[in-house]
Amino acid sequence: GPAIVWFRRDLRTGDLPTLSAVAGDEVLGLFVLDEALLRPSGASRRDFLYGCLTALDEELGGRLCVVRGDPKVVVPQVARDIGAGEVHVSADFGPYGRARDDAVAREVDLVSTGSPYAVAPGRVTKADGAPYRVFTPYFGRWLDHGWRAPADTSARTVSWLDPGLSIRVPIPRTGSVSRERAGERAALARWAEFRDDDLAGYDTGRDRPDLDRTSRMSVYLKYGCIHPRTMLSDLAGQSGTGSVAFRRQLAWRDFYADVLHHRPDTARRNYDPRFDALRYDSGPDAESAWSAWCAGRTGYPIVDAGMRQLLAEGWMHNRVRMIVASFLLKDLHLPWWRGARYFMRHLVDGDLASNQHGWQWTAGSGTDAAPYFRVFNPISQGQKFDPDGDYVRRWVPELRGIAGARVHTLAGGRPDGYPDPIVDHGIERREALARYGELKRG
Ligand code: FAD
Repeated sequence: GPAIVWFRRDLRTGDLPTLSAVAGDEVLGLFVLDEALLRPSGASRRDFLYGCLTALDEELGGRLCVVRGDPKVVVPQVARDIGAGEVHVSADFGPYGRARDDAVAREVDLVSTGSPYAVAPGRVTKADGAPYRVFTPYFGRWLDHGWRAPADTSARTVSWLDPGLSIRVPIPRTGSVSRERAGERAALARWAEFRDDDLAGYDTGRDRPDLDRTSRMSVYLKYGCIHPRTMLSDLAGQSGTGSVAFRRQLAWRDFYADVLHHRPDTARRNYDPRFDALRYDSGPDAESAWSAWCAGRTGYPIVDAGMRQLLAEGWMHNRVRMIVASFLLKDLHLPWWRGARYFMRHLVDGDLASNQHGWQWTAGSGTDAAPYFRVFNPISQGQKFDPDGDYVRRWVPELRGIAGARVHTLAGGRPDGYPDPIVDHGIERREALARYGELKRG
C-alpha cells in the first residue's frame, strides 16, 4: 500500500531523508494540528506555522493532508483509512514528541529517519559514554563527529496522494507578525542572502542588535524549512571568522537538544538542583514588576526595546534576550521558568531546548557552570552593544527624540509617557548576589 510521510518539524521537500526512506512512489503527506502543541504557542508562532504549511502544500501540488486532533488517534486512523503500510517521520527528541511517537509506534509501523539536528541527540558523548555538561568540549567532539551530506530529495519523484479524506481540514490563515516569509523557498533565499552579505562580518556583528546582522534562520530551523546540514555544507572548508562563529552557534542548538534529551526534567526544573533553594519575590509588587517586564515598561530602555521587539516581531536579538532574562531573574528576582514560558508564547522560533536552557544559562542553574554572579548592568550593556542607541529608538517610540547613546542613560531627563525605572539596579544587584550567596553556603 501507499506510505505516509508525517511532517512535524521538517516542513520542506529538499534534503528530507524521510522521503528517501520511502520505498514506493505513492505517498500521503500528512500534518496533524495538535492542540497540545498549539496551545502554548502564541499567535505569532502559529501564524508562521500556518504559513509554512501553506508553502509546503504548494510544493506538494495542493496535496498536503492536514488533519486536526490527537496524533495518537488520528495518525493510526489515517493509516487505516488509506491502507498505508509505513508511516515515515524524522525523529523528535523533545519530551512530548518522544512519548507521542512511542504511543503511535504501538499502532502503526513508524519508521524514523534523520532528525532536525546536524548531529542528533545522544550521538556525541564523552569517552565513557556519558553526556557532555559543558559546551566547549561537546563542540570539539561535535566537529570531529561531523554530519551527513544533504540528501538531494527535491528531485525524488513521488506521487503525492489525494485520497479525499473527509477528516482533512483547510490550513488556517491569519496575518503574520514575523518579518520573515514562511516556508522552504523563503528559508533558502534568506540563507543565501545572509551567506553572501553578512556571514563574513558575523563574528563581530552578531552582538549588535542595532546592526541586526544575525541570520534570523532560527524561525526556519524551528519548523525545519531548512536543515542545518544544508547550511553546514555551504560552510564546509571555510575558515573565516564568520563561518567559524556561525558553525559554533549551530552547535549550541544541537548541544541544548542533547542536554534536554538526557535530562527531559530540565524543561521545567533546574539542571543544577542546588538552585532549587533560591528565593524568589512574590506578591502584588512582584506581579506589577512582572507586568511591566512583559509590556516593555520597566524604565530601562534596552530591556523595554527587547520586550517590545518580542511582541512586535515574535523575535528578539540574542544579546537582548540575555539582557532581558538577566533583568527578570536578577533585578526582579522572578523565576526563570516564568520568563521562559512567556518567551515560548511569543517567540516564533520558540524551541523548548534552546529556550529553557538559554534561560537556565542566564540563571546560572544550567549547563556550562555559567557564573551566577554575572549580573548584567542594563545601562552599560545598552551602551556597549547599542552604542548609538538606534536599537532602542527603533522599538521605543517615546525615546525617539533623544539622540545618540544618551537614550540609555536618559541623563537629560525622561520624556513624558516613559516610565521611571521600576527598580534600582545597584540595590537589586546586591540583593541577587546575597540570595545566590545563600545557595553556595547552604
Ligand atoms: P544567529 O546568530 O544567526 O545564529 C544561527 C543559529 O544558531 C540560530 O538560528 C540558532 O539555531 C542557533 N543558535 C544561535 N545561538 C544559539 C543559542 N544561544 N542557543 C541555541 N541555539 C543558538 N533560540 C531558539 O532557536 N529558540 C528559542 O526559543 C530560544 N530562546 C532563547 C532564550 C534565551 C533567554 C536566550 C538567551 C537565547 C535563546 N535562544 C533561542 C538562542 C538565540 O537567542 C537564538 O537562537 C537567536 O537569537 C536566533 O536568531 P538568529 O537565527 O538570527 O541567530
